[in-house]
Amino acid sequence: MAFKLAVFLMLGSILASWGTYIYDNYRFLTTTSYKKILTARSKCDHCEKQLKLINLIPFFSYIFQRGKSSCCNKPISRKYFYIESLGILVGVIMAFFDQISVGLLTSLLIFLIFLDERYKEIPITLNLLIIILVTISIPNISLNNYVTPLIVMAFLLLIYFGFLLIKKKEGMGLGDIILIFSISLFIGFPNILYLITIASSLLLLKIIFTQKYKEQHAFGSWLAGVFLTFILFQEFYVFEGSVTI
Ligand SMILES: [Zn+2]
Repeated sequence: MAFKLAVFLMLGSILASWGTYIYDNYRFLTTTSYKKILTARSKCDHCEKQLKLINLIPFFSYIFQRGKSSCCNKPISRKYFYIESLGILVGVIMAFFDQISVGLLTSLLIFLIFLDERYKEIPITLNLLIIILVTISIPNISLNNYVTPLIVMAFLLLIYFGFLLIKKKEGMGLGDIILIFSISLFIGFPNILYLITIASSLLLLKIIFTQKYKEQHAFGSWLAGVFLTFILFQEFYVFEGSVTI
């Protein structure tokens, strides 16, 4: 158990570092070649030197160098510490439920929330990974499971293109529609309708509270947030149930 926990903690921590790197350099990464992405390494925020392998995980830098960078001895942003802690928390959750796919799904959803809020888009790669993880997470999945999600997605695409035709602009992102496909695959019908309603209401509340009526708002982040809550709630429920039986 201790060994497994250590592996999951490492995994959560590495995922968090990786996610932070993509989050910070998203615009650069989406406009550059794949070769550059694969060879790119994180740089120090102060002196721009490439980080050593050991320093790629900021949590270790925090412990071993007391929050200072090894290249120029300047303080490392606290942001990394918090993100790292979040990654470790996800690692604990993964170990607790003993389900890597659900743990990875949780991590990707957290990542999606941050990315969509900042850049107002969901990369297709992220959406595809979520579809794969949802598929893996469902026990005894069959083709029947895909019927409802496909109907929901067809319906939303109809609205999407109708809106595009009449208003000449996107009412909802295509990325959001693909995300809704994955979510309905996981939670089914009519749960997907409740989830969309809750996410829309929360977004509406946010718009009213911030009074930013004219700006573009991310919807996918709210869908992902409500979905995440649903998964954690369900996992705890199932876990409790398996204990009492
Ligand atoms: Zn430095």
